[in-house]
Amino acid sequence: MAVDAAPALLHWYDMNARTLPWRTLPDAKQAPDPYRVWLSEIMLQQTTTAAVAPYFARFTARWPTIETLAAAEEAELMAAWAGLGYYARARNLIACARTIAAQHGGRFPQQETALRALPGIGAYTAAAIAAIAFGQRAVVVDANVERVVARLFALETPLPAARPELRRLTDGITPDARAGDFAQAMMDIGATVCMPRAPRCLICPLAEICAARATGEPERYPVKAPKRAKPERRGIAYWLERDGAVLLSRRPPRGMLGGMRALPGGAWHDAAPEATPPISADWRPIGAVRHVFTHFALTLDLLAARGEAKAADGEWWPVDRIEEAGLPTLYAKAAPLAAAWREAA
Ligand code: SF4
Repeated sequence: MAVDAAPALLHWYDMNARTLPWRTLPDAKQAPDPYRVWLSEIMLQQTTTAAVAPYFARFTARWPTIETLAAAEEAELMAAWAGLGYYARARNLIACARTIAAQHGGRFPQQETALRALPGIGAYTAAAIAAIAFGQRAVVVDANVERVVARLFALETPLPAARPELRRLTDGITPDARAGDFAQAMMDIGATVCMPRAPRCLICPLAEICAARATGEPERYPVKAPKRAKPERRGIAYWLERDGAVLLSRRPPRGMLGGMRALPGGAWHDAAPEATPPISADWRPIGAVRHVFTHFALTLDLLAARGEAKAADGEWWPVDRIEEAGLPTLYAKAAPLAAAWREAA
């Protein structure tokens, strides 16, 4: 089925484009800044625009160019990223900035293939940067675009098997001109009009050509394969206090939350592990924290005690400045439980 979505969509975008801190609007005089496009696209992976906005503002104030980011300390950048999640992105961010500074003279390559060769840039991000920053015709498919296209064509193939077909269909409606605006328009339609649960077909510029709307049940698309439950993992974390400070350790450099500050604790297992506290003390259970990662859900039982430990085992961090330690969300959730334990003691 031939569908010409671009004219109506671009017309709508010219009137309704969302103002976002990283976006260059269609009527802007200056060209988009590839650094800001790249930084925002990395931050927006699996993360909402509302969550990204303050991080984007802080990062661009502190590191306004790719060169300044390339020169940043990795630990400093990891701490600034804390709370945004998916920490491999932060490690790749600095690796990518350094590669561009060292091998590309501080300038982003413009072609999708060259962009894909950079650390942390996959197919989607390469296409988004090529289209949005450089106006290249690239096929940009994120979750919002998948939903809009699946509805536009009333695609019955369930996700994730439908992905190659969705890409081919998106390719078929992507125009040669204004490919960046087209990609952003599709994202905006997905975020503000063609929403997952309640698509607003009455105000949609694609309503007349949308096959899902014609079925009367647009929210049925994209069809999804039944979900499998995420595996559960268990672990223990130790909150050890001494003179108003808590003992923090660092996660191993590679793997989940690699290189981040953490509470001491052992490996995560499929079943509840044996307790192996950093020192022998009067350890008390103070609750548990839970976090759902991409591939598994983790419950950490928390044990708290007061006592001395060798400096080599970690660093003592003032409890009243714990939010400045750059702890990942999983460990930051332990602080209120420790506060309740301290008050009750
Ligand atoms: S008409 Fe409705 S279902 Fe179709 S793209 Fe627009 S909002 Fe989505």
